[in-house]
Amino acid sequence: MSYPDVQLFIDGKWLDAADGKTISVLNPATGAEIGRVAHAAVADLERTVIAAKRGFETWRELPAIERNIVMRNAAKILRERMPDIAPLLTLEQGKPLSEAKGEILAAADMIDWFADEGLRIYGRVVPSRFNNSTRQVVVRDPVGPVAAFTPWNFPINQIVRKLGAALACGCSMIVKAPEETPASPAALVSAFADAGLPQGVLGLVFGNPSEISNYLIPHPIIRKVTFTGSTPIGKQLAALAGQHLKRVTMELGGHAPVIICEDADVGLAVKSIGAAKFRNAGQVCISPTRFLVHESIKNEFVTAIAEYGAGLRVGDGLEPNTKMGPLANERRVTAMEDFTHDAISKGATLELGGQRLDREGYFWQPTVLSEVPLDAKVFNDEPFGPIAAIRGFSAIDEAIAESNRLPFGLSGYAFTRSLKNADILGRKMEVGMLWINMQAMPSAELPFGGIKESGIGTEGGSEAMEAYLNVRSIATANV
Ligand code: NAD
Repeated sequence: MSYPDVQLFIDGKWLDAADGKTISVLNPATGAEIGRVAHAAVADLERTVIAAKRGFETWRELPAIERNIVMRNAAKILRERMPDIAPLLTLEQGKPLSEAKGEILAAADMIDWFADEGLRIYGRVVPSRFNNSTRQVVVRDPVGPVAAFTPWNFPINQIVRKLGAALACGCSMIVKAPEETPASPAALVSAFADAGLPQGVLGLVFGNPSEISNYLIPHPIIRKVTFTGSTPIGKQLAALAGQHLKRVTMELGGHAPVIICEDADVGLAVKSIGAAKFRNAGQVCISPTRFLVHESIKNEFVTAIAEYGAGLRVGDGLEPNTKMGPLANERRVTAMEDFTHDAISKGATLELGGQRLDREGYFWQPTVLSEVPLDAKVFNDEPFGPIAAIRGFSAIDEAIAESNRLPFGLSGYAFTRSLKNADILGRKMEVGMLWINMQAMPSAELPFGGIKESGIGTEGGSEAMEAYLNVRSIATANV
């Protein structure tokens, strides 16, 4: 399977960096270099910004229905090319091929949904309080060229959540996509270019993340910043955007509580939460991470989730039976070692895994820890890996207090057969997205985002459009 070297996409053309610099791309299943990606210099960034300004002027003037046609065409091309793109995504990111295929198809659906939402951006007519002949209208129009920074865990989807809404609103966008996984974002951009997206509307760059964000965020042409990644980096970028009063959307880290009440269907909890825990090797911002299980069913749950994890076949994502692939890079393996050793040294019990796989690549065993003390790192910092950390509780208030203890508030899960418990959990768990008695099912039409230090704004639902629109009023006197 051949992997392409990836170039920058500037003003409708695929180009090497002005200074010819490139970065190595590794296969996480082997650690071997599979290709190179262009490393943008300042001259490349400036050309991309100028193109985004021109692209914006063209794109915003198109009727919404014409933008809709281009976007739907891109979604169609993406679906058609899915069989060729999915193996590239697996090669560079590690996830099983079935997950890569699912990601691409979900992205195509999301593009369609945002394209249609773009047909429904309405204004208002507001009666004048002074006289009936003054016409007052409220209009919503595109905010302008956007700088987007996206991570490696869902290389296509994380772009589409931003790009779909931005394009549907009439904005242009420069994407700084992940250097670790550049080929699948490039394939996404190609789908849009081949669908007829005008030159300059979409730019794609790679390079040194902080150099690029320090250049793009303050740039006067850029009107909006959107980032998905860790909370510490999100704070830095939001602070920089704040200095220049740029609007931001921040989709940041979480540490999802899972509250399993004494009246829960344990079988359902294990099945749905087990799949969610080990999906993409736990490298998912909404991955369940802090398991709070009622003491009366804790042992039953621990045994069952450990059995679930033990049954997963871990291996190269391109092999047909693989259920969990490698971690994205060596940093994540080191982090898993650190989380596991720290928890055990503080009194946690290792129920499953806890080791690197004895083979090349960045593989970590599905890991289950029980009796995890509250001061263990894994109960405080986002693990972002295949570790289920479990502790018991006696009263629901205690579980809710623990669920809300951390500064994060992205996603949460709960299992109960009681309507009363479901109602209390729904009202009191401080998370942006809560799933009760089910696995996470984020879709284009539901808001996707966090509260507290998990972010600002949302990347789903009609609410996602607000991030890319200005609201203005125009009053006209009939003279
Ligand atoms: P990191 O914090 O170094 O980077 C996270 C992302 O931000 C990467 O895509 C990186 O390229 C980008 N980035 C880093 N510095 C930047 C800067 N100055 N300007 C612009 N972009 C910048 O972490 P990492 O080791 O790549 O990933 C591990 C952590 O990141 C995880 O623990 C998790 O919390 C977080 N993460 C979250 C998501 C998510 O979906 N919310 C996705 C990937 C990573």
